[in-house]
Amino acid sequence: MTKQPIPVKKNDELQVTIEDLTHEGAGVAKVNGYTLFVPRALPGEVVDIKVVKTNKGYGFARLLEIQEASEHRAEPPCPIYNQCGGCQIQHLSYEAQLVSKQKQVKDVLERIGGIKDITVHPTLGMNDPWRYRNKAQVPIGEEGGLVIAGFYQERSHRIINMDECLIQHEDNDQIIRVVKNIANKYGIRAYDEEKHRGTLRHVVARKGKVTNEVMVVFVTRGKELPNKVNLIEEIRENIPHVKSIVQNINPKRTNVIFGDETNVLWGEEYIHDYIGDIKFAISARSFYQVNPEQTKVLYDQALEYASLTGQETVIDAYCGIGTISLFLAERAKHVYGVEIVPDAIADAKRNAKLNGITNVDFAVGEAEKIMPWWYAQGIRADVIVVDPPRKGCDEELLETILSMKPKRVVYVSCNPATLARDLKFLEAGGYKTKEVQPVDMFPHSNHIENVAVLELMN
Ligand code: SAH
Repeated sequence: MTKQPIPVKKNDELQVTIEDLTHEGAGVAKVNGYTLFVPRALPGEVVDIKVVKTNKGYGFARLLEIQEASEHRAEPPCPIYNQCGGCQIQHLSYEAQLVSKQKQVKDVLERIGGIKDITVHPTLGMNDPWRYRNKAQVPIGEEGGLVIAGFYQERSHRIINMDECLIQHEDNDQIIRVVKNIANKYGIRAYDEEKHRGTLRHVVARKGKVTNEVMVVFVTRGKELPNKVNLIEEIRENIPHVKSIVQNINPKRTNVIFGDETNVLWGEEYIHDYIGDIKFAISARSFYQVNPEQTKVLYDQALEYASLTGQETVIDAYCGIGTISLFLAERAKHVYGVEIVPDAIADAKRNAKLNGITNVDFAVGEAEKIMPWWYAQGIRADVIVVDPPRKGCDEELLETILSMKPKRVVYVSCNPATLARDLKFLEAGGYKTKEVQPVDMFPHSNHIENVAVLELMN
């Protein structure tokens, strides 16, 4: 095979037409068959670019000027959109984001899963796709002697100071602003990750959108938190409906946000919130879906696909704090949930009790180990729901599904690529994918959530 020379080199300036959008939100241009990724450019646009890097199979370029803009281009309302690494597609209108996500799912199912002949529904989006997040985890830093708070610049550890984040609940924004002010007023120093010095590492703000309850978490390097009393007083003054103020201590040199020790400084250990009519207790470190409105949409779809009559035994693999399990339990005979993180299972059990739900059993462990064990004990599920992390399902788990032969498999996925791979595996084992419903859990970001339903053939 003759090797094609790379048709462009670093610093070349040229005009291209953008043909596609990657799952990371970058525009795709082809130059004599060579792929260039152009962040912030949109399909259909004619743009001037400057090549910044060339690899063997593809390269990257910077957008210099838009000559012909896409009709779907939107003016990003966030003032720090171009610096902050939080959102990727604010420059695309929300309607077009939804269409693009649906198309990406279709493409990936076909390319990776070889699945062509199924319905991928239009993405279910939000009526108001702003201010949807109920949790902010914001790194604290210093700039010019002042404490700042904001997200990291993409691919860097530089904090971009922010006054507000348009996808955050307003209360969370306010908490971050108040904490910044207090830290500056009382001389509380930000943690310096290079020198491993200073006090305040992160502020985490959580909001129960239905209950209106608020939690503030200070993540500090050591036990000491100077002016604790004033801190609590000022938070309560500024955010009168605060329910819980806690300190988490993380003494390690690490990117991981939380340490092992959490102490309540004032108020309750938990706040509460509802998804549908199910109540959840949320502690500083509990996992809880960040977009509860869309979580309800996603899980309602999962429930519809499960089509339960009340007689079924259901397994919820990768169950987290049991959100789906508890949803399912209201309509099933019995639900078994399995999850690898012990704290999540403790939350799941607490939440079951909180809601008076008794027809669920939760197990701690790897789903791919617990499922075969359940199988060996004679447990047979009529419906299996899986909601794995980005890497998808373990093959051992998929094998167990094939042995157990549930009538239906409902697959909730946060990564279309591994969804496609796993659907292909299940299809080879006798299942047929019926339909796929993308749900937009994270407007303005490139994340795509899906729920798919498979049925056992013959
Ligand atoms: N359905 C859950 C969230 C699922 S996120 C909810 O709504 O709360 C994926 C979950 O899989 C995470 O909680 C993660 O801890 C868990 N997990 C990751 N690997 C696992 C494994 N091998 N076995 C079981 N659970 C696992």
